[in-house]
Amino acid sequence: EETIDKPRRVLLKLSGEAFGGGSVGIDTTIIRRIAQEITRAVRRGVQVAIVVGGGNFFRGAELQQAGIDRSRGDYMGMLGTVMNCLALQDFLEQEGQATRVQTAIAMGQVAEPYIPLKAIRHLEKGRVVIFGAGAGMPYFSTDTVSIQRSLEIHCDEVLMGKNGVDGVYTADPRKDPSARRFISLSYTRALVDNLSVMDASALSMARDNRQRIRVFGLEGDGNVTKAILGCSIGTLVSD
Ligand code: UDP
Repeated sequence: EETIDKPRRVLLKLSGEAFGGGSVGIDTTIIRRIAQEITRAVRRGVQVAIVVGGGNFFRGAELQQAGIDRSRGDYMGMLGTVMNCLALQDFLEQEGQATRVQTAIAMGQVAEPYIPLKAIRHLEKGRVVIFGAGAGMPYFSTDTVSIQRSLEIHCDEVLMGKNGVDGVYTADPRKDPSARRFISLSYTRALVDNLSVMDASALSMARDNRQRIRVFGLEGDGNVTKAILGCSIGTLVSD
């Protein structure tokens, strides 16, 4: 009897900060490098879906502080994520990597609508699928969407790429020199100690559905490829 290995399928979350390099707009040098690293891993047979954030353009909560209606500001935030999607798509295509963008807010000229079964089909054909516009709903975050999409399209793992830190620490390593990195960590510990994995609603959705999360640093050379291939870098959050 034949046994066929199921290919590894991951969901990579890239925050807006990763795209902007810490400022407003996009840093094409960073995006090109990430696209190259993703392509390298896809060529090794891993199926990669991506959720992109939009904090390099707008965050609804910040716009609210400046006097904009929260929901409208959230929609602005969601639209910002789509610009990141298109930038990443372009660099992936430049690497020869077929890519589809699917958005939770319909915008037919630039992206397909979010259709989970179609996303799975793209992945099976070796295409990278980038999810934009979050959940299409105000008061949600792209972290929550990462967990939701990863569950709906049956990903083995969610990879949280971070800037300025290479995993989850006992305290903020940028402020506390005695901070130590966790190799592994439980959902409950991360929630109770309020450790910086992802926002609490996203983390509790992961816990309820036992979705594994690897938090890793985007900056180290080759890290994105390593995370996608399943190397034990950063911090694994699980039961
Ligand atoms: N957003 C939203 N619903 C979603 C996803 C995102 O309203 O399902 C809005 C929200 O205002 C958020 C912004 O889009 O602040 C950008 O997303 P996020 O803050 O998650 O991006 P990141 O922090 O990863 O850059």
